[in-house]
Amino acid sequence: MCLHIISKFYATFVGSKLNKMSYQVDEKGYYGRFGGAYIPEILHGCVEDLKRNYLRIINSEAFVTEFRRLLNDYAGRPSPLYHARRLSDRYGCKIYLKREDLNHTGAHKINNTVGQILIAREMGKRRIIAETGAGQHGVATATVCALMNMPCVVYMGKTDVERQQPNVKKMQMLGAEVIPVTSGNMTLKDATNEAIRDWCCHPSDTFYIIGSTVGPHPYPDMVARLQSVISEEIKQQLSEHEGRAYPDYLMACVGGGSNAAGTIYHFLDDERVKIILAEAGGEGILSGRSAATIHLGKEGIIHGARTLVMQNDDGQIEEPYSISAGLDYPGIGPIHAFLAESKRAEVLAVNDDEALKAVFELTRLEGIIPALESAHILGALPKISFKQADIVVVTLSGRGDKDMDTYQKKYCNNEKEHPAC
Ligand SMILES: *Cc1c(COP(=O)(O)O)cnc(C)c1O
Repeated sequence: MCLHIISKFYATFVGSKLNKMSYQVDEKGYYGRFGGAYIPEILHGCVEDLKRNYLRIINSEAFVTEFRRLLNDYAGRPSPLYHARRLSDRYGCKIYLKREDLNHTGAHKINNTVGQILIAREMGKRRIIAETGAGQHGVATATVCALMNMPCVVYMGKTDVERQQPNVKKMQMLGAEVIPVTSGNMTLKDATNEAIRDWCCHPSDTFYIIGSTVGPHPYPDMVARLQSVISEEIKQQLSEHEGRAYPDYLMACVGGGSNAAGTIYHFLDDERVKIILAEAGGEGILSGRSAATIHLGKEGIIHGARTLVMQNDDGQIEEPYSISAGLDYPGIGPIHAFLAESKRAEVLAVNDDEALKAVFELTRLEGIIPALESAHILGALPKISFKQADIVVVTLSGRGDKDMDTYQKKYCNNEKEHPAC
């Protein structure tokens, strides 16, 4: 297993020298001109330390064994690849859902936090911090901190603390300290700033578990590698189901980009596979209320990386809006900025109403209530003209339990007749 992974790494690495174009990170931490590590001097030491050690740790036999054990027996992997027959009929192709919604804590985020806490432990760190928006990454981090008996501090914008109470309660029950952040708009961007500030004050003993493929190098690459178990499984499962190890389409939603990066990781250099990503259009990309960073962003630096950023002409960050709290980040993982620019991925903006429609469609066609974030990629399905023979893998990043309040309200506005209202 270990040798297998190491040889895979070298194949990617060597491949990057031979291929005309590689979509993986380069030795300096860039995807094209996106990425890098733009950090204050005081963090230089610990980011360097992580950079020097993360590949060695991730590829070590001890890590691989423990990571696999926890992913399988604790998080519930491998997640099923489910042939959704009724959804397939609706869109005239063969759709498989990659069921990340069935993981412990309800989304793909646990893959990343299990991996990062093992890295933190190996590096001798004793205290964990994290940022969270909707609270999903906070819960996934608090969960692994309970498991590993490590103290956990989660920064969360005060606005989010108020509107995401069930997740706040979960984090507290798991033993985390949730610190409400009152700067700026009191949402995810501000929570991230505060987490970085904390890290600057405790660089030697604290590990910052970042929740997506964002932040300074090596975070985007590290998170992508930890989430790449998703595409590794897709390969294996497609061979079993279809007798061929690649789909025609891979589809995923992007907030910061971690479930998408995990979904496409092992297919990036396989041009037979089309990549479709969905970002949150909010009320429409021209409405002034949107979170479609790839459509609307301009190049800039946010939270340690050069990427596309929603900003005004003065470089002030513009507050993103989406019905989905997990997608309203004003930046985007540098890998996705690069995939969009190089046209390796097609990025669609899916609006609130399109995502909501997709929620109810999946619920009634397949008996699966998806998370609002995941519904954005489902909402992209009607925008693509598939052929009957196309094999399409859609990553269902999470389940809809946390969104029931929103669904109840929307459902009852639209369908007053329905008995659920
Ligand atoms: C957090 C979250 C996302 C967005 O994060 P990515 O890093 O872009 O994957 C998507 N879906 C669910 C269910 C989430 O909880």
